[in-house]
Amino acid sequence: MKKYNFNAGPSILPQEVIKQTAEAVLDFEGQGLSVLEISHRAKYFQPVMDEAEALMKELLGVPEGYRVLFLGGGASMQFCMVPFNLLEKKAAYLNTGVWSKKAIKEAKAFGEVVEVAASTNSIPMDFDIPQDCDYFHITTNNTIYGTEISDAKLQEIYRKKGKVTLVADMSSDILSRKIDVSQYGLIYGGAQKNIAPAGVTFVIVREDILGKVSRYIPTMLDYRTHIEGGSMFNTPPVLPIYTAVLTLRWLKKNGGVDWIEKRNIAKAELLYNCIDSSKLFTATIMDKEDRSRMNICFVPKPGKEDIFDDFFAFASAKGMVGIKGHRLVGGFRASCYNAMDLEGVQALVDCIHEYEKKF
Ligand SMILES: *Cc1c(COP(=O)(O)O)cnc(C)c1O
Repeated sequence: MKKYNFNAGPSILPQEVIKQTAEAVLDFEGQGLSVLEISHRAKYFQPVMDEAEALMKELLGVPEGYRVLFLGGGASMQFCMVPFNLLEKKAAYLNTGVWSKKAIKEAKAFGEVVEVAASTNSIPMDFDIPQDCDYFHITTNNTIYGTEISDAKLQEIYRKKGKVTLVADMSSDILSRKIDVSQYGLIYGGAQKNIAPAGVTFVIVREDILGKVSRYIPTMLDYRTHIEGGSMFNTPPVLPIYTAVLTLRWLKKNGGVDWIEKRNIAKAELLYNCIDSSKLFTATIMDKEDRSRMNICFVPKPGKEDIFDDFFAFASAKGMVGIKGHRLVGGFRASCYNAMDLEGVQALVDCIHEYEKKF
């Protein structure tokens, strides 16, 4: 039976990328060696690293003055690396849920942290950004609660920030939509949502924001170390970086971020329309502007809570994988990352319609 992978992360990758990765595990680009056993220093791997950085820059329109790094440690490591490198006195954070909260917790170890606003079921905009803070941190897509900062609200944040450096956790919506990288000092994320298997973290950093804090930064946690080392100061996660290149090639070949953004909008509309007109389910995020295109959360309507197990079993029998909501939200969450096609979302919509008929 065909499986439809709605896992929140690690998550779906394009089938052809998985096949090409499997081939490279057996024979890396005709070299007679597995990608698992080549040296990252060898002539084989440098071109991969170069291509990874070049494709990220090309697909996202990264301007001059920025570097793209591929590191270990996950987005969670960035929660402490960001303040370690950038927070001298004070930072501001927008708290939009679990991941923002974890980032805030780490920053508090380094200086004063202003939480400008907090909400888990909407993107609050009623705040000012203190102009004397070292940076302002946002989470553009909230993987657990299913909210995402719309383009209009991002524009408002760009205006509000004035001269303050903007930092964003884009783990779960990187490359799913066009963004204006020039507005950011630093963008980071775990690659396991839209780019690669788990094990690699991307960081897009404008070089001129570094070197301004007075504390000692441990070598491995200092962005300058990895800039100088070309992401190879120590052994990089070779396999996930190779798969990242394959995913980026796939995205470029199909039409880049313009193409995928249109497809993601169509997918999200299809599923939200289905949920909004459903007799059994309701979306958890009411304000349409704040709804995530990547992580679509829905719950049984009040009074219908007992259908949870039954629908879960019904959908699982039809090949739907990973649709259980996060325990903090309950209900269901369909993660519709870049590699999920319209046909996959249509299959889930058909499944919901069929279940309603049966019900
Ligand atoms: C998944 C996720 C993280 C955590 O990523 P790790 O690589 O597991 O540390 C952080 N932020 C957001 C928005 C996420 O979706």
